[in-house]
Amino acid sequence: MNQLTNFRRTKIIFTLGPATESEEMLEKLILAGVDVARLNMAHAKHDWTREVIRRIRAVSKKVGREIAIMMDIKGPEIRTGDVDAPIELKVGEIFDFTVKPGGDASRENGEEIRSVNVNYKDLVNDIHVGDTVLVDNGLIRLEVLEKDNAHIRCRVLIPGELKSKRHINLPGVKVNLPSFTEKDRGDTQVGIEEGIDFVALSFVREAKDIEMLREYLRANNSKAKIIAKIEDQTAISNLDEIIRATDSLMVARGDLGIECPYEDLPVIQRRAVKSCFDHGKPVIIATHMLESMIKEPMPTRAEITDVANAVYEKADCVMLSGETTIGKYPLECVAILDKIARRIEEEGPFDFAEPEHVTGDKLKLLQSGVLLAHQISDSGIITFTRQGYMAAGLAALRPAIAPIFAMTNSVATLRQLRILRGVEPYMLSLDSEPNDTIENAIALLVKAGRVRTGDKLIVATDLLSHDRLVDSVQLRTVR
Ligand code: PEP
Repeated sequence: MNQLTNFRRTKIIFTLGPATESEEMLEKLILAGVDVARLNMAHAKHDWTREVIRRIRAVSKKVGREIAIMMDIKGPEIRTGDVDAPIELKVGEIFDFTVKPGGDASRENGEEIRSVNVNYKDLVNDIHVGDTVLVDNGLIRLEVLEKDNAHIRCRVLIPGELKSKRHINLPGVKVNLPSFTEKDRGDTQVGIEEGIDFVALSFVREAKDIEMLREYLRANNSKAKIIAKIEDQTAISNLDEIIRATDSLMVARGDLGIECPYEDLPVIQRRAVKSCFDHGKPVIIATHMLESMIKEPMPTRAEITDVANAVYEKADCVMLSGETTIGKYPLECVAILDKIARRIEEEGPFDFAEPEHVTGDKLKLLQSGVLLAHQISDSGIITFTRQGYMAAGLAALRPAIAPIFAMTNSVATLRQLRILRGVEPYMLSLDSEPNDTIENAIALLVKAGRVRTGDKLIVATDLLSHDRLVDSVQLRTVR
């Protein structure tokens, strides 16, 4: 590989938290090459949210590298209520989840049945006898024995300590909660006011959920793009319609691994990445990528291989969560993702697969540009893109080796291009004559040290020429 093709194609998303929110850490992370900062709204207050968004923007400006901001809204979430003291659940114990608090303590065979309230009133309607209830990220498992209109009665299968406000998963149960909740609206409003680039919608179950958020963004004049988080079995059943409706997809393996049989998880990941490829949509692999590094300075062999697998699959992004919110080694995590991604990308596969979505003339033209880049070793691709469509079209074609230098005149577009595999975005004025614009782009890349005299560049453009858009693919040599 020469200097032109020696770059990281896979993008890195990190979640902001106490370990990374300082100006100093943000500066280090941005310089280390993170592409997107994620705000997990399950844990964020509005004042903090506004403050950190402004801080990320200020630090990006200071170091001269604009990263994107993703607001991850919580979506429908079922939680237990408060308990006075942790309840130590024992194997075989009968335990109630109540939807009407304050009822009389029940008894079975003379023994008092302990209980906790749940924030989901329809639980008793949606769940069936024999279903599974998982508490605290799947650590505690119960089986439903019976139900009435006030509670469900369960038997503990896997014991554990139940504390206040624990997350509940109901594998296979079609939960009747709105996808875009009141809390989500409030959070998104703050995000819109602060100019976020992406909204990640949790627990998307069908295309309708995405359309609802899209309508909200449109009504509030936001250009933020939508990331659909697939986290349960309903989403998997509706995967194709979700991918069609969304701008991009996140394989949210934390909840997915609880809601689906764990042995299905790798199969689901592979299918989701392949479907996104076929539909030309970006895809993010999230959660537990370097989990052990929350405490340890080095990843496990299995984690290294998991990250490598996502890169081999040609996912657009890999994501860090706890590793960068509360972890001891956030910078090391980014360096390790960078190193693994570069090494695996060097290895291929270098086949040139044809995604199913390449149907229109424009995409076919872009495809011919990507094919040319594939045939001319150590070449790059330049494109000019106001709203990001040209760059997204090229990225979706997955050039095997060539970088996609995406020139845009919009900083908002530049940030949204950060999630696309293989895309390096740059700011450039696009209003001059097409040939001048191309020459300016090449000069900019020379100045940035990305191309040298003699390098070959494929220019895929629909630049304006005398008020007309002219589509073309050209081959240029840097002089
Ligand atoms: C996940 O479940 O993997 C995920 C990314 O979502 P959250 O962190 O919001 O639970």
